[in-house]
Amino acid sequence: MISNKARWGTFFCISALLLLGGLFYLIRVVPAGHNPGLYQKILPATGLTFSCLILFFGHFSYPRLHSVRVYFLGYGIGCAGAVYFTLCKPFFRTPLFPPLPHGFSEFVMCVALINLIAVTLIPSDTKYRIIRSVTLGIIMVETVLFCILRFGPGAALWLRPLFYHTLRDPAFWTGPALLVAALLLSFRNIRREFFLGGIVAGSAMLFAVAWTSRIIDPAHSDLFRPLILAGIPVYLFGSMVLHGFLRMEHRIAYDPLLKIFNRDYCSRIITEQANINVAPPFGIAMIDIDHFKQVNDTYGHQAGDAVLHAVAQVVLCGAGPDGIACRYGGEELAVFFPQKTAKEVSDIAEEMRKNIEKTRTRFGRKTIEVTISVGVSHREQYGQSIVEVIQAADKALYTAKKDGRNQVRQQKALTDTR
Ligand code: GH3
Ligand code: MG
Ligand code: MG
Repeated sequence: MISNKARWGTFFCISALLLLGGLFYLIRVVPAGHNPGLYQKILPATGLTFSCLILFFGHFSYPRLHSVRVYFLGYGIGCAGAVYFTLCKPFFRTPLFPPLPHGFSEFVMCVALINLIAVTLIPSDTKYRIIRSVTLGIIMVETVLFCILRFGPGAALWLRPLFYHTLRDPAFWTGPALLVAALLLSFRNIRREFFLGGIVAGSAMLFAVAWTSRIIDPAHSDLFRPLILAGIPVYLFGSMVLHGFLRMEHRIAYDPLLKIFNRDYCSRIITEQANINVAPPFGIAMIDIDHFKQVNDTYGHQAGDAVLHAVAQVVLCGAGPDGIACRYGGEELAVFFPQKTAKEVSDIAEEMRKNIEKTRTRFGRKTIEVTISVGVSHREQYGQSIVEVIQAADKALYTAKKDGRNQVRQQKALTDTR
């Protein structure tokens, strides 16, 4: 699941389009006259409920997910949705509200799209205190603007530039322009942050269709727009929960410094694989950085961290799509290779060793070079346990160190119960 982040992003973009198709279909199967309660009560109530839910999710997920983007996404879209379903299309009727000024719902959508763009622009390492203050400030300004433009005198005049009749009105192109910006920025800035880029892109597409609905489907636009706008918070809620789940799993499985699997997760995977792929072969490479203590002593601990990260990334790259790389201890890594022979694993390890020898890590003005020693072993018989293979790889690593470091050594796992 973790290695399929990009595919999950595409999945969420496609599911936004499927949702749209479903809503198009719904509006034709259940016209407003057949079920007025659905459009006048259930739909706005659903939109309002899920808008509040994503707002709460964004707020309360922060201590667990540490994602400033999810935090802002919840507030930005939750507030816009709540405003739409209380001030534009409420499920309750009230004589207190003056008639809806033309262009007000376009304004709400514009604000939501701008908030989506803001999600893509927030640096992911922004401090919580800063994002909390900025979010609060933005939401307060937006709420004041919403109230002034909904109830204030002369609001219609201010909103007129956003109201369009035909494709030739420049106002029409505001929505698609914001959509393009949100799409480009989501793919450029947060494509790799699980599938958050896909969620933002999917939501932007839904907003853009809601915006253009008066041109796409003029006969149903009065129903279609609120239908999509109620669908967006539902879509967002589902995808934000899934995003949170995957992110938590990631935090449990990954080493935050090296950005590879941690030992616990690796042991779990190795045991599962060893049980599933009962047929040998599988190989293990134990990797240890040479004289790493000297790196820390000479350049400092932070420089040591940077070197560790660089080495882990070269190992990860060298392990290929089938290899499972993990941090085994302090500066020790292990790579598990299902379905590879001893010769194949040794060749890959030798390639990794050469690549690390060539790697230069920059830290400030310094350039640091390190080498690695590698011990390789593999399971060639059914009777050998995973522990025995790891022990053999450890022995091979010890030999590599003893023989002068910066080399790959191989050792057969001992037990043979055939
Ligand atoms: P050898 O070639 O025999 O492996 O020598 P070495 O100096 O690499 O071996 P040793 O095991 O004595 O030292 C490992 C060092 O790795 C000691 C420890 O401070 C450092 N280390 C372990 N984890 C980390 C880490 O997360 N960051 C940094 N910067 N250093 C770490
Ligand atoms: Mg070492
Ligand atoms: Mg060591």
